[in-house]
Amino acid sequence: MKRIGVLTSGGDSPGMNAAIRAVVRCGIEAGMEVYGIKRGYEGLLDGEICQLDRNSVGDILHRGGTILKTARSERFRTEEGQTHGVSVLETFGIEGLVVIGGDGSLRGGCDLDRRGIKVMGLPGTIDNDLGYTDFTIGFDTAVSTVLDAISKVRDTSSSHERTTVIEVMGRHCGDIALYAGLAGGAEAVLIPEIETDVNELCRKILIGANRGKQHSIIIKAEGVEISTAALTKTIEERTGRETRPVVLSYLQRGGTPTLRDRMLATLTGAKAVELLQEDSDSKAIGTVNGEIVAYDLQQALAQKREIDREMYDLIGILSK
Ligand code: ATP
Repeated sequence: MKRIGVLTSGGDSPGMNAAIRAVVRCGIEAGMEVYGIKRGYEGLLDGEICQLDRNSVGDILHRGGTILKTARSERFRTEEGQTHGVSVLETFGIEGLVVIGGDGSLRGGCDLDRRGIKVMGLPGTIDNDLGYTDFTIGFDTAVSTVLDAISKVRDTSSSHERTTVIEVMGRHCGDIALYAGLAGGAEAVLIPEIETDVNELCRKILIGANRGKQHSIIIKAEGVEISTAALTKTIEERTGRETRPVVLSYLQRGGTPTLRDRMLATLTGAKAVELLQEDSDSKAIGTVNGEIVAYDLQQALAQKREIDREMYDLIGILSK
């Protein structure tokens, strides 16, 4: 394979730049020409494509976001869009593509694969919602950001003897809430995968307060059915304790990637190039039990992400 492309798609995540850097430099080392496609599938359809050299990815390893920019593309979801995407790749002579993005982006990669393009999918999303990999690129940084926020909120919550509901990202997957809740010592974690029992939550807050707890930190994933505003109000009404919401929102997407995210991004990027060089079938690349893995792209996306119930229960035990 002589010419490959790389794009980032969906929500940005810290480590995407490290992955781009690895793809470009390993690709050039392998004798390939590497093309950067701007704004994900949207840029592909518009032909926003240019060749990248070693220097073009200098000084980006430690930066959050993505130098290639990212977008969501409704046009690419259509048959017409996907056919056009393939014709643009053919026009540029690009035979293989590295897609860095979440579940939707890799599904878009499957559509290109079905049309004859070799696609290597890298799990670039803070959500950790892909079933085939233990961790996604950006998740570790996002959880670190949430942990930092918890520490700061804890100081003020303790001084004011308050309950604070911290809303974190995760529309369908509660992993950010779960990991941050366990490592941050939250009193409770509310996630979309497990139904919220508001009465039980309020009882827990009151029992803790009666035992002398000065504050309660509740971590709530955004995808939990009850809104953060409604939950805050209900807790305050039922416990009689001052309760405040903190919505972390896009704060969680930015920042310099952690060691873990840089390693995952760099190793999966290098693996993608190795597979393209071997003319391998399309793969989803990730990490399982600390090893870099590459699975059939379509089959990998069929794997459902299961919530770690033991971790959830442990939070309940530790926060009693
Ligand atoms: P994140 O969850 O981190 O935001 P994501 O990749 O899951 O990342 P999506 O918005 O779901 O984000 O997908 C990004 C883009 O991928 C979409 O705008 C669309 O262009 C393309 N895409 C998503 N789903 C599909 C699909 N089923 N078929 C083809 N293309 C898709």
